[in-house]
Amino acid sequence: MLRLENTLTGRKEEFKPTRGKIVRFYTCGPTVYNFVHIGNLRTYIFEDVLRRALRYEGYKTLQVMNITDIEDKIIKKAKTEGKTIKEITIPFTRSFMEDLKKLNIEKPEIMPRATAHIKEMIALIEKLLQKGFAYKGNDGSIYFDITKSEGYGKLAKIDKKNLKAGIRIEADEYNKDEAQDFVLWKAKKEGEPSWKSPFGPGRPGWHIECSAMSIKYLGESFDIHTGGIDNAFPHHENEIAQSEAATGKIFSRFWLHGEHLLVGGEKMAKSAGNFYTMRDIEKKGYDPTAFRYLVLSNHYRSKLNFTWESLTAAKNGYQNLRDEIKRARAMADKKDKHNKSKEKEYLSIFKQAIENDLGAPEGLAEIWNVMKDKDLSPVSKIFLAEEMDKVLGLGIAKMKSRPVTLEVRKIIKEREMARTEKDFNKSDILRNKAEELGYRIEDTPKGPIAIGI
Ligand code: AMP
Ligand code: ZN
Repeated sequence: MLRLENTLTGRKEEFKPTRGKIVRFYTCGPTVYNFVHIGNLRTYIFEDVLRRALRYEGYKTLQVMNITDIEDKIIKKAKTEGKTIKEITIPFTRSFMEDLKKLNIEKPEIMPRATAHIKEMIALIEKLLQKGFAYKGNDGSIYFDITKSEGYGKLAKIDKKNLKAGIRIEADEYNKDEAQDFVLWKAKKEGEPSWKSPFGPGRPGWHIECSAMSIKYLGESFDIHTGGIDNAFPHHENEIAQSEAATGKIFSRFWLHGEHLLVGGEKMAKSAGNFYTMRDIEKKGYDPTAFRYLVLSNHYRSKLNFTWESLTAAKNGYQNLRDEIKRARAMADKKDKHNKSKEKEYLSIFKQAIENDLGAPEGLAEIWNVMKDKDLSPVSKIFLAEEMDKVLGLGIAKMKSRPVTLEVRKIIKEREMARTEKDFNKSDILRNKAEELGYRIEDTPKGPIAIGI
């Protein structure tokens, strides 16, 4: 049984979906005004492990991840660069999708864009106005009145006494320390994009986007909501307040938050300028999967300080694993037997690790235990590593050596002959020749094998 740490209750709880075998979950997606940084990607990797773990447990996923394609920062960038909103958001949405692919992050089932759901947002705001949870400010914008929300602060554990009632916040950049009435609909400003609405032309605030899109695709009450820890307050708190006010139902039962990626002990953030993107990682010659390996080596609820040294260590770990897999494949023989009882044992340890609030580091360690087990046949090793990789997503099924060419096979034979004749000089030359052709010759108890480098 999967147990997940629920920010809402502060406890690790047994997880079961409410609608049969389908898990409905929502993930806050990126604001597409720039490339996402590797801190954001750490969070998307944790969410990907969650969806893979849910499937490993026998569930189907219905995951929604929004694309925020209207927001203060986008508008500002479009103005500064003399571009339209779409000229900013379309290319950055595309590069985000590329980043996901490179990191083996599965595409959520639904990826709605905010600007395609203005109608749903307006309907939700109308409901809040009707029910008396929202009001029009002097500036013509519509605000949510947090004093009307009974449970306000329940996610972020904010004392209601500290609420700054009546103090309004209109910007998309929020004060993280104070709870304030927040904007649902921003009245039109000169030179800014706007939509018609019953409460005048304007555009939606950031929080209402996620409520409208999650309710549309997942229903008024669903299983899990995820995001980075910085989203817990005020974004998720506000999502809960407005959704529950509108529907009268529990919004999401589970709230999972990933901890931050840090640089020099500080949160990696666009605004701080201390960030790297996937492009920086690749420019320095790292395989994107090395970054995934680094992220998996740390529990999602722990802070992770990023350094190039730690990425290098992860790269080495990842490459060693790839070599081990290729070696096992080269040694695997169709006649080899699976060691069923050992396989069962390993899978049970692995499952326990994942079921304990997504213990990816322990899961990864278990793959290594498998690869190092001298008593395990290569076929069992491959079977287990591929099975565990269903959750970890390092692409083990694709870690295959290139087929050994006729030329290389000939070199191996000649080298064997040289070795029986104790001509080690010749044997070394032949080994180097194979390496020049992209193959490493290794001597194993089963005889020499060639592995594509
Ligand atoms: P944003 O585009 O800022 O809304 O962020 C997109 C996702 O990345 C959200 O789930 C954030 O909580 C998360 N996030 C932002 N900064 C970091 C960071 N330094 N480490 C991990 N996750 C982050
Ligand atoms: Zn959101």
